[in-house]
Amino acid sequence: MIDILITNGRVIDPANGVDQICDVSINKGKITGIGKPRGKGKETIDAAGKIVAPGLIDLHVHCREPGHEEEETIATASAAAVAGGFTTICAMPNTHPPQDDERAVQYVIQRAAEADLARVLPAGCLTKNRTGEELAEMGMMREAGAVAFTDDGDGINSSAVMQRALQYTKLIGLPLLQHCQDSDLAGGSMNSGAVAVRLGLSGMASSGEQIMLRRDLELVERTGARYHVMHVSSAGSVELIRQAKADGLPVTAEATPHHLLLTDAACMSYDPNYKMNPPLRSADDVEALRAGVADGTIDCLATDHAPHSTEEKELEFGLAPFGIISLDCAMALYAKALIGSGLMGWPGLIDRMSAGPAKLLDGSLGQISVRSEADVVIIDPKTRWTVNVNKFASISRNCPYHGWKLKGRAVTTIVGGQIKFSL
Ligand SMILES: [Zn+2]
Ligand SMILES: [Zn+2]
Repeated sequence: MIDILITNGRVIDPANGVDQICDVSINKGKITGIGKPRGKGKETIDAAGKIVAPGLIDLHVHCREPGHEEEETIATASAAAVAGGFTTICAMPNTHPPQDDERAVQYVIQRAAEADLARVLPAGCLTKNRTGEELAEMGMMREAGAVAFTDDGDGINSSAVMQRALQYTKLIGLPLLQHCQDSDLAGGSMNSGAVAVRLGLSGMASSGEQIMLRRDLELVERTGARYHVMHVSSAGSVELIRQAKADGLPVTAEATPHHLLLTDAACMSYDPNYKMNPPLRSADDVEALRAGVADGTIDCLATDHAPHSTEEKELEFGLAPFGIISLDCAMALYAKALIGSGLMGWPGLIDRMSAGPAKLLDGSLGQISVRSEADVVIIDPKTRWTVNVNKFASISRNCPYHGWKLKGRAVTTIVGGQIKFSL
């Protein structure tokens, strides 16, 4: 007997170059067959008309635990993840206190095991207490299970610290994830430009992102360390990454749903759900980002899911915190931006959400291969639905997509051979 047999789905597995209608068998937490099943299923899922894909991976999630459990917990972020088709999320370390030592990393792993929904892989801080000064004990955190290092929320401003951080992450073999923003050029609450002037809000120019990225690429060339650009927001950054890849540098990059769908014109509403860091930029930037995802310059799609309490997000625009949530609905948002615009098909989109991010994680995730972990999502690509933030598994509600009509949805999410979500 087969534990779970998924029949007649369109299996799209970019890691193995597969796109065909066939069956997938799952036994004891692993994929055991692709194609004609040997035996019957204890549980059979008819996936006719649906897509069967590797479980989606989100490299950029703020779980807020420890410190702000009223906004999100590791358990609720995991529930939002599986509801959105994600089987693996990477937990950002800007918690309170920050995840900057092995005990903090162990805590995330323990809480994720208790929740028993998605895989939650901890990122550790690059610097102690996220101050950008002294390197954190990254070797110890790697031993404890950290998969990457970042001071996300802030970039590493000091070139000397950044160089040492790259040397050290190279030594221990894990990627460095950078939030590119020169802090001397930050301080605004939205993109600088005509809209900011009209609204009387202070601006953050894309040059603040590009200056740090240019410096980092110089240091990556010197050190040879693996470097990942988080939430790319500008056309100039896409071009820098494209050139760096052409030069053979070990660089990867991600884009968020909001930077692929929204422009700074949305800030005209003064709604803080359009306040994020990096900020929403121009239509030209959105177009360049979409083209970057389509041609593979941007390898990964990542939400930067950033929960905040309603009280905080109800402050006026200039005072409200940065960030929005989107784990529950991200896949359909990406589909709207990239498939709806005719730039990509489902195979490309699934690649950027599974095989692409899996390359940073060094595991057997992000693929449907015999003996690989049975992390699988079944997607109904045709179903139309309306985003209702009140139905999100996430605790927070700071989401600008409430009421949006979207197409495509995860209907079953399987993690390690167990069904963790079904619609
Ligand atoms: Zn960030
Ligand atoms: Zn972030």
